[in-house]
Amino acid sequence: MENRSKELFEAAKRHIPGGVNSPVRAFGAVGRTPRFIASAYGDRIIDADGNEMIDYVCSWGPGILGHAHPRVIKQVQKACENGLTYGAPTEKEVILAELIAELIPSMEVSRLVSSGTEAVMSAIRVARGYTKRDKIVKFKGCYHGHSDGLLVKAGSAALTTSVPDSAGVPADYTKHTLVALYNNPDSVEALFQQNPKEIAAVIVEPVAANMGVVLPEPGFLEFLRNITTKYGALLIFDEVITGFRLSLGGAQEYYHITPDLTTLGKIVGGGMPIGAYGGKREIMEMVSPVGAVYQAGTLSGNPIATTAGIETLRILKEDPTIYQRLEAKAEKIVHVVLEAAEGSVSVNQIGSLLSVFFTKEKVKDYHSALSSDTSRYAAYFSYLLDRGIYIAPSQFEAMFLSDAHTEEDIEQTCQIIKEAIVLSTKTDAPFQDKLIN
Ligand SMILES: *Cc1c(COP(=O)(O)O)cnc(C)c1O
Repeated sequence: MENRSKELFEAAKRHIPGGVNSPVRAFGAVGRTPRFIASAYGDRIIDADGNEMIDYVCSWGPGILGHAHPRVIKQVQKACENGLTYGAPTEKEVILAELIAELIPSMEVSRLVSSGTEAVMSAIRVARGYTKRDKIVKFKGCYHGHSDGLLVKAGSAALTTSVPDSAGVPADYTKHTLVALYNNPDSVEALFQQNPKEIAAVIVEPVAANMGVVLPEPGFLEFLRNITTKYGALLIFDEVITGFRLSLGGAQEYYHITPDLTTLGKIVGGGMPIGAYGGKREIMEMVSPVGAVYQAGTLSGNPIATTAGIETLRILKEDPTIYQRLEAKAEKIVHVVLEAAEGSVSVNQIGSLLSVFFTKEKVKDYHSALSSDTSRYAAYFSYLLDRGIYIAPSQFEAMFLSDAHTEEDIEQTCQIIKEAIVLSTKTDAPFQDKLIN
């Protein structure tokens, strides 16, 4: 039953572009109607028709503790009674900055903003101000929010030019963004050789999770650390997804690589809108009011959002075994998928992040991710959705595990995933007709 969701979607489309406030929510890639969510608790979300689903989107990452964690909700309710925003400093901001610095030591000094997009945009401004250089290098398939300079794709002339990847972005805004290939050191080396003194920073998702999950190959992050140092550029880890998810100290702790600047979002807000960027004091003191790099925000460091972030980080810090539990659950799902698929899919997993790619190719970059059969993914998605398993409505996103996923729910999920995968391997095209109810 999705009648109410269908009605709401029609109503939404009248006053909201495409009926959604962020594009992937529209379910366009899977040809279904988005479920309008009414409430959530633990590992469950409940839609407007009353369907209760096991949630593996987790709000695209923030929900590492599951939904409506009692401790987080209690603190937020308490904080609300004291007013929602003051536009003046609070103790909560100090506590959160101290927690960030403790858990991610490279973020000795950090600034709070209200989204991951803002964090990345600001970190890049700082890198440019600090190095007095204009160009940045990003990787094809990595996502860093929707700011103008990052909505680029490689131009046709090798890798030397990039062009806007969205209407409304002037080519002048993207001409300083160079695009390299993930897991391909030569592509980075070439850009540095062509622009030895012009690159301010290399920005990377240390584990890419926005083209589906793609792990860095051994040595790739070390290579980035070394080449940026060699050419006097900064290394920025965009840990908006990996921060507090791969480990308490993020991907940089997991891989033992220290970037110059780090961006956070998602988990750091515990379900409220927060982003953060930070690094060593010397670099971060470029930011106004101490330095000449301007960056500001009316609701930055909002007392309710910081409360949710602090409580979430405290819970993670009190019980670091959470990361083993998360990984064990992810591994269980991977095991079931691989066994059922008999080589017909490719799975990438690290910690509580995983992606099932409907391709036989090993996925190690954007190009190989694109070899996936998205119509097979759509059929798989629908089979799961119709049986109460809510996964990302796109092949090129991660499946997120939370501490609230119970053993029973993982079991149930595995059973349904197994059926969907087996069906997809045993059935000839157009098998998707048979998969969808
Ligand atoms: C989600 C995401 C962003 C953007 O964060 P928003 O809060 O959506 O603006 C940036 N970088 C990465 C790696 C992300 O996953």
